Amino acid sequence: MNATAQTENPPPSASAGQEWTCPFCALLCDGFRVESQQGGLKLVGSDCSKAVQGLASFGPVPAAPSATVDGREVSPDAALDAAAERLAASRMPLFGGLATDVAGMRQLVRLANQRGAILDHARGDTLMPVLRTLQDRGQMFSTLAEIRNRADLVVCIGTDAASNFPEFFRRCGPVDEVAFARRTVFVGASAPAGLQGEVDEVALHGDLFDAVAMLAALIDGRRLPAADAALGQLAQAMRASTYCVVVFEPGRLPAQGALIAEAVLRIVMSLNRKTRAGAFMLGGADGLQTANAVATWMSGLPLRTRVGPLGLDHDPLQYASDRLLQEGAVDLLLWVVSLGPNPVPPGTALPRIVLGHPALAADCAAAGTVFIPVATPGVNADGHLFRADGVVTLPLRALRDDGLPTVAGVAKALEERLALRRLATEGRP
Ligand code: SF4
Repeated sequence: MNATAQTENPPPSASAGQEWTCPFCALLCDGFRVESQQGGLKLVGSDCSKAVQGLASFGPVPAAPSATVDGREVSPDAALDAAAERLAASRMPLFGGLATDVAGMRQLVRLANQRGAILDHARGDTLMPVLRTLQDRGQMFSTLAEIRNRADLVVCIGTDAASNFPEFFRRCGPVDEVAFARRTVFVGASAPAGLQGEVDEVALHGDLFDAVAMLAALIDGRRLPAADAALGQLAQAMRASTYCVVVFEPGRLPAQGALIAEAVLRIVMSLNRKTRAGAFMLGGADGLQTANAVATWMSGLPLRTRVGPLGLDHDPLQYASDRLLQEGAVDLLLWVVSLGPNPVPPGTALPRIVLGHPALAADCAAAGTVFIPVATPGVNADGHLFRADGVVTLPLRALRDDGLPTVAGVAKALEERLALRRLATEGRP
């Protein structure tokens, strides 16, 4: 971690440039600024590699590419007409990617409802095990503020937390280092360099499943004849702490990771019988949290649900994007990727409509593909995103105007075109 990342408020050098909420991971850091430099965008106040890389994907203005249909540059209206025509011809579309903000997702759910589409996020595989655990066990999650204000022990299970969320430890560093000491323990992962406070690592003797199961049993007070000594000491420390937070990262869990997520929740529930504890899930990359929250509040069911005039159908296994595409179970892919150039749309022989970051223009100039470049919330559009802890929806402000439409605007235009087509087909005025 860099030295500038140890304080909540931006350092004096961050006084130049615009205040900014970063959209490039689910921490949504809002303590930094961005400067325009030679047409590009420069992060001030942090050297977060993800944010630097995200900003670097936006070139000088104007640089927005044209929309394309089958590789031909066309007007925005012509691209919308072509996309609406392909959507109207589809009987089982898949709306994937779903890297967008609240307004974009709201409009996509409406469009999906019109066409009977299946909704799945590019990172749906990391969401489903956790959802299943929540359905089975409920949840006891902590927030960034609670970790910052209360946690005297943070236990990171199978993750260093910083590789994919570079500012995590700055965001939840102790608010008053004099008031309480913080110990951070990494189980089955290496500690990031430069982390402040007492830091320990617990190596695995077996796999993560064994370690978490043993830790849960030890915290429950069960006697294990062959218990790992380091895990035994950690279990004691967790029981003795005043507020222990167990951090895990769904995107880094091995196959069948639901078992680890389930064990983490079991640990937290056991600890709460005698002291206070919470779990913290480092997830929600590429707008996953936002897409799932919006789909749930609009339909009553999470992602991997087909929504349409005939009702709802949720299937966490069958409605996985990869599976649907491999098995040819859908006949059109609408892919949304507005928070950066990733996740790239999967290659497929099916008709594709891509509402994407401008950097994808060349990759999407292919036969069978309609490409419509869209704006990024927090860079060239306003918007809202859910933070990783799921308790806050933060507003994002545009840094500049590249003249690109939002995902919500494009989805609404498609919905209107489809409604007009239906009226024309039914012969109504
Ligand atoms: S940690 Fe995430 S939200 Fe914070 S600056 Fe880096 S990419 Fe942006």
